Amino acid sequence: MADTTETAAADGAAARLRARRDLAVAAAVGRGLLDDTRPLVALLDLRTVRETVRALHEAFADAGDPARPALHTFAVKAGSLVPVLRLLHELGMGAEVASPGELALARAAGVPPDRIVLDSPAKTPTELREALALGVALNADNPQELARLDALVADRPPRGPVGLRVNPQLGAGSIDAMSTATATSKFGFALRDPGARDRVLRAYADRPWLTALHCHVGSQGMAPERMAAGAAAIVDLAEEINAAAVAAGRSPQVDTLDIGGGLPVNFTSDDIAPSYADFARLLRERAPVAFGGRYRIVTEFGRSVLAKAGVILARVEYTKDAGGRRIAVTHAGAQVATRTVFAPEAWPLRVAAYDGEGRPATTAPLRQDVAGPCCFAGDLVAHDRELPELRPGDHAALLDTGAYYASTPFGYNSLPRPAVLGFTVDPAGQPQFSTLRRAQTIEELVAESGG
Ligand SMILES: *Cc1c(COP(=O)(O)O)cnc(C)c1O
Repeated sequence: MADTTETAAADGAAARLRARRDLAVAAAVGRGLLDDTRPLVALLDLRTVRETVRALHEAFADAGDPARPALHTFAVKAGSLVPVLRLLHELGMGAEVASPGELALARAAGVPPDRIVLDSPAKTPTELREALALGVALNADNPQELARLDALVADRPPRGPVGLRVNPQLGAGSIDAMSTATATSKFGFALRDPGARDRVLRAYADRPWLTALHCHVGSQGMAPERMAAGAAAIVDLAEEINAAAVAAGRSPQVDTLDIGGGLPVNFTSDDIAPSYADFARLLRERAPVAFGGRYRIVTEFGRSVLAKAGVILARVEYTKDAGGRRIAVTHAGAQVATRTVFAPEAWPLRVAAYDGEGRPATTAPLRQDVAGPCCFAGDLVAHDRELPELRPGDHAALLDTGAYYASTPFGYNSLPRPAVLGFTVDPAGQPQFSTLRRAQTIEELVAESGG
């Protein structure tokens, strides 16, 4: 458990995060970064990103083989913007990709192939060939993919680590759609089906070029204990494969353990909990061999790297009452908060109310719906939520939206993609903004739509 110094430090970090957010919102509104033609913008606190990545590196500083330090890849789907990937690369992270597009984004950001891991469940022969030629690490998802790899590596051994993604079949977390370790999950080689473990052992025995093992047991809603159990499962399997290799007169075969991502994010307050340090402590306890120095550790965190750093800021256009219900109609809905709108129980978001000048709203609290601009009734980001009374010209801020929200827009109603701006606060307390993605123009939208 965290001691009191750590708790005090965490409280301080949460307060500083909140203070920076308030400064950035006031500056964005004050400097006209939102206006009539662009009533929606996403902001990313780059300092929070830096602190989070530093905490990740520190938590795993003594994990695995000291000669091959842990490689922390960022799951590109959680924040698929090239400048974000470039910043994370500069901060020492690699990239986990799952499509040709994500691979291209990572490469455009300057991430070298030997710091990229490819994990898609539907890799085409072309993708496999390109990954092998580049030296990108890859994890085969199923026996048919492995058969394709057999043919491709016949002439030339792979340059990067190749492994199997296994599913330890540990069960679901609290969000079914995010649970990748159920008995029937579509991902990986199921380990507990009858005879499956022996087939995996045989696959390694037959292929000395398989030197990695991968699992990713779920994203959000998965208890850290379950994630640690997933890591423990691949450690046990790696030890078994290595013992078999040694018994057969070869050297230990598996030297890379990719433990995936999925650290849950706290969407209920500004606290960063669990922290990477908490998780690393748990891992050390449940899978000590992973820290023992024999293996290179690879991680693939996405949401936990960026979520707390992001805020989506939308102008309140109208307020109205219907059937005794107050509704604030804003410009942030399903186009930027897709999961929250379609699965509100699984993906609740905090909403903060700011006034027309971008200051924290001080109006009397009122239960209200916070709606988006899309033309369907369910386009709500908050339902019956007590918030300071929102008025036209005020601003609604969707908090903790740095990962999987604005960077992953939904094309409904042909709403243009909003700008994503990074910000830092200078020593004089002035926020400085940088463009991570320009707002899409209406002309671009027309062109993209076949115009
Ligand atoms: C999505 C995904 C991740 C990242 O999950 P987060 O919950 O964003 O940390 C990592 N690995 C794989 C294989 C994934 O599909």
